[in-house]
Amino acid sequence: MRRNPPFIAGNWKMHATLAEARTLISEIVKAAPGLSPARLVVIPPFTALCEASKLAQGSSVGIGGQNIYWEDKGAFTGEISAPMLKDAGCSYSVIGHSERRQFFGETDSGVNRKIRAALRHGLSPIVCVGESLEEREAGKTIARIKTQLDEGLREMTREDMGRIVLAYEPIWAIGTGRTATPGQAEEVHAFIRKDLEEKYGNPTAAYVIILYGGSVKPANAYALFKEKNIDGFLAGGASLEAGSFIQIAKEALRAYEEE
Ligand code: PEP
Repeated sequence: MRRNPPFIAGNWKMHATLAEARTLISEIVKAAPGLSPARLVVIPPFTALCEASKLAQGSSVGIGGQNIYWEDKGAFTGEISAPMLKDAGCSYSVIGHSERRQFFGETDSGVNRKIRAALRHGLSPIVCVGESLEEREAGKTIARIKTQLDEGLREMTREDMGRIVLAYEPIWAIGTGRTATPGQAEEVHAFIRKDLEEKYGNPTAAYVIILYGGSVKPANAYALFKEKNIDGFLAGGASLEAGSFIQIAKEALRAYEEE
């Protein structure tokens, strides 16, 4: 039996001027009441967070940042802290996105420190894990995910797990138009759920939200959400248009309501 209603998050990455952000968030906020009980979260660039938070106020749409640094404040030019995200109206922060790991040198131990900082300040981390194409082709997918979970979630408690969202995002599927098949995604999601069950037991493991990310669009959302361990999506490209983001939520809801 499925425990969680659809959780649909849109990672805008380094896109959207303030004017574009206003239009996008306003359309999503307008659609949100019709998409209940799906949980919608938008993740704009830092420059648009305050404006997005203001426009989402009083709605069910959550706001998240794309990254945080683990210190609360100090001489860390270019970084943003968890208290700053809270102050800007965020409830979530993406941590360990593969683009951060690939281009900005993020490590599993850094991811662990960032998760702790987020939790310390009342933010729910959306923690990304995923393998590269070479790792998949070498049969190392599960080993890679296991390491990311072991190190990234080191010393997390059951209570912490109640606030952490996980996102499985195969690197070869991000921004490439090449989505994992529902079977490929479910295989990894089921592994993650089992790993959580071994570490935290049930019901904790059953309720952890595990998202899939990697070229999700309206056309593939229904089939992916039909898989037992896929609780929703972290969408990049498709979240930059309100219509396709909303349609992804509708497709997930359609699959959810059939159960
Ligand atoms: C992402 O940004 O996390 C992502 C999955 O991007 P896309 O949907 O464009 O592949």
